[in-house]
Amino acid sequence: MSSRTLRRLPMFLLLVLLMGLAGFGAHRIAQQLGLAELQATGLHRLDLYSASLEREIGKYAFLPGTLDLERDVLELLRHPDSGQPTAKVNTYLEQLNERAGTLSIYVIDTAGRVVAASNWRRADSFLGEDLSFRPYFREAMASGSGRFFGIGTTRGEPGYYLASTLVDASRTLGVAVIKVSLEQLEKSWSTVEAPAMVSDENGVVILGSVADWKFTTLRPLDEPTRSAFDQTQQYNRRALKPLGLREIAELDHGARLVEIARQGSEIVSVYPVSGRFLAQSRPLPGTPWTLTVFSHLEQVDEIAQSRALVAVVGAAFVFMLGLMLDERRRRLKDRLAAREALQQAHDELERKVDERTADLSAANQLLQDEVAERIRAERTLRAAQDELVQAGKLAVIGQLSTGIAHELNQPLAALRTLSGNGVRFLERGDLATTRSNLERIAQLVDRMGLITGQLRAFARKSSGQLQPVALGRALDNALALLEPRLRQANAEIVRHSPLPEPLALGDANRLEQVLVNLLGNALDAMDGQPAPIIEVDCGVVAGRARLSVRDHGPGLAEAALSHLFEPFFTTKAAGVGLGLGLTISAGIVRDFGGTLSGANHPAGGAVFTLDIPLSPEASA
Ligand code: ADP
Repeated sequence: MSSRTLRRLPMFLLLVLLMGLAGFGAHRIAQQLGLAELQATGLHRLDLYSASLEREIGKYAFLPGTLDLERDVLELLRHPDSGQPTAKVNTYLEQLNERAGTLSIYVIDTAGRVVAASNWRRADSFLGEDLSFRPYFREAMASGSGRFFGIGTTRGEPGYYLASTLVDASRTLGVAVIKVSLEQLEKSWSTVEAPAMVSDENGVVILGSVADWKFTTLRPLDEPTRSAFDQTQQYNRRALKPLGLREIAELDHGARLVEIARQGSEIVSVYPVSGRFLAQSRPLPGTPWTLTVFSHLEQVDEIAQSRALVAVVGAAFVFMLGLMLDERRRRLKDRLAAREALQQAHDELERKVDERTADLSAANQLLQDEVAERIRAERTLRAAQDELVQAGKLAVIGQLSTGIAHELNQPLAALRTLSGNGVRFLERGDLATTRSNLERIAQLVDRMGLITGQLRAFARKSSGQLQPVALGRALDNALALLEPRLRQANAEIVRHSPLPEPLALGDANRLEQVLVNLLGNALDAMDGQPAPIIEVDCGVVAGRARLSVRDHGPGLAEAALSHLFEPFFTTKAAGVGLGLGLTISAGIVRDFGGTLSGANHPAGGAVFTLDIPLSPEASA
């Protein structure tokens, strides 16, 4: 057996128990109700049948008593042996018998001898017979009237005897007897719907709606009773077989549950005559008889069974319904639990999200702090950078000062010579030579002013404001600043510039500073070459201004490539290079929103490229 089946076993047993109980209960109740109904119907029938029997008997009850109204009858009894009235009375009785529809009418004298009879003509007439032993005679003699059921002694015909004394002036002369056929009484039962019977004081069935029941006994007869019957010849030596009635249970109101055994021969009847019955009895008034009505239980049983079946099915249905409802309730509960779990999970999730959000905001705060820290560092660096720019400038100035001194010393020496010569030519009166000298002096002074002016401009701190810068002009200025060095190195500058020259957005001074730096590095790289060449390209590429400076030196070393723009990276001898030039230059270009990059030219030498946004004016 599977565990599933095992689990269901109690449920199944419960169902079986429930169905059994319901079936049993319904059966019991239906049976009780059916029995009660049957009992009511039975009582009704009992009333009906006894009334019709009484009516039938009553019809004849008065008849024997009326015979003493007949003078001939009384005369005959007074003088039994006169002979004369006997024929007359016989004829009278014969006619009366015919009209009344009775079996026979006869008159008995006080000694018990039949003195006149309706059947006087017949050979088996009991005229002259002694009937003193018959109970109805004795009863009538004793109490004035007698009633008796019995079977005729002469012809063996069963009948009901009604006897009444014939009295003449308070003297009993004899007894008049009427015998009524039982068939006559039974006639009224021809239409009964249920078996009925009349049993006498001996428990012998004398009347029955079922023919075979007649002369059966309801209870076994003991021997003394049997011999008494022989004496009175009540049943005229009939067999008196038992009916086979067995009492099952005693109910209230004199009702009983009985069972009538099936007879050997099949009885033809409109209603069942064997089986279980509800038997209801009642004594018939004026007789020692008992009327019994039988109602078959078959119908009640059938109804009870069908009710029980309905109850069983109903119980099963209710049980299933209960199971279904229970299942539904359980499912609903599960769903609620699931919803609750979901809600919990949701709450948990929300809580976690809140936590994470808190973490995140903390992290965010940290990040912000970090960024702020970086910005601060950047600012500090920028400040330091600015300082360095200034320092770089000073370094360049320092570097240049030798050249400048040399530059200025020459014109100054020339000025001294020219002015000294000029004085002498003036004394000689050579005015033309004097003018020529003075003109050369003026030229020299202009040149010296130019040099000092450029120096001033270089040293000046930038305003920080971005303005349109003509790249060509900036290049001119840078080259002018480097003029002495270029000349000294015998360098050649090759310029490729389109027209009109690009207008970038930046700061002229600082851009010049960058260019001086790049050109200076190029000269350094080609140091020792007899005719160094620097190529400067200037143009617009992809909507931005671009300027590149290429030399023909050894190019950038592998190590230098990755550290070019780091502060204090230099390959030059101490005191010659600081390693700040490119760092400062890159910072300046970045300030313009541009980039500075260094690479090796495929054909040799290094090339540095400036990429700066165009001025909106230029774009326009
Ligand atoms: P410095 O010139 O003081 O060394 P820079 O920042 O200007 O500092 O240059 C850093 C280094 O980059 C130089 O020391 C040199 O090694 C390398 N460099 C710069 N320009 C060139 C160039 N045109 N050719 C070869 N190397 C160069």
